[in-house]
Amino acid sequence: MRRPLIAGNWKLHKTRDESVALVTALKAAVAGVDSCDILVAPPFTALAVLAPLLAGSNIQLGAQNCYPETTGAFTGEISPQLLKDAGCSAVIVGHSERRQLFAEDDAFINRKVKAVLAAGLTAILCVGETLEERENGEILDVLTRQTKGGLAGLDATVLQNVVIAYEPVWAIGTGKTASNEDAQEVHSFLRGLLRGSYDQATADNTRILYGGSVKPDNVDGLMAQDDIDGALVGGASLKAEDFARIVRFG
Ligand code: PEP
Repeated sequence: MRRPLIAGNWKLHKTRDESVALVTALKAAVAGVDSCDILVAPPFTALAVLAPLLAGSNIQLGAQNCYPETTGAFTGEISPQLLKDAGCSAVIVGHSERRQLFAEDDAFINRKVKAVLAAGLTAILCVGETLEERENGEILDVLTRQTKGGLAGLDATVLQNVVIAYEPVWAIGTGKTASNEDAQEVHSFLRGLLRGSYDQATADNTRILYGGSVKPDNVDGLMAQDDIDGALVGGASLKAEDFARIVRFG
């Protein structure tokens, strides 16, 4: 019912030449794979270089961030329209590194989600608790606030262009992963939130990715869970062989 999505977030890694080399290797490694959607989100500088290389392939191009305005005096920022122009079909919004390092709050992230959708792109909305929030028993409150805040004002008809990524902050780049059961429990909770805010069909159709140290050796167990519809992959997306193995989960 939900087509899996495996997305690679390259963060602040890879020059243009390195990006071309990685994508060239990845294209070969995932050639013919049709069991899921595949997306890479390189740094802004590599987008327009990679777009022609990816055209016609089974790998989509995404961006890691955007600013929620179309044009104007916003020095240093990039709009969803410019990302679309560079060949992107999706934008990651509200990554925990943006929330923590750049003080992005739910209201600002909500503006970004709306701007991404208005440009005709898919928004990959990241939510996730810190270790402190988890230990304080605040996990469900945090996820509710981030999910409802990020989606505020959106109606069910546009949710088809929204992907949720559950990324427990303590699992990102740490080598720690939520257990398959814990991740499933949270994904099921998030799907319940969508059901409550929208309807059963929206809950059933919205993809919820897991992110946080997804690797070749743990992807199969995670992807076997009913409510895990894909992965947002950081470190392991920087190696074609590892990312291709994740894409070929099973
Ligand atoms: C991420 O950056 O979204 C991420 C999940 O990173 P990693 O896979 O390295 O934990």
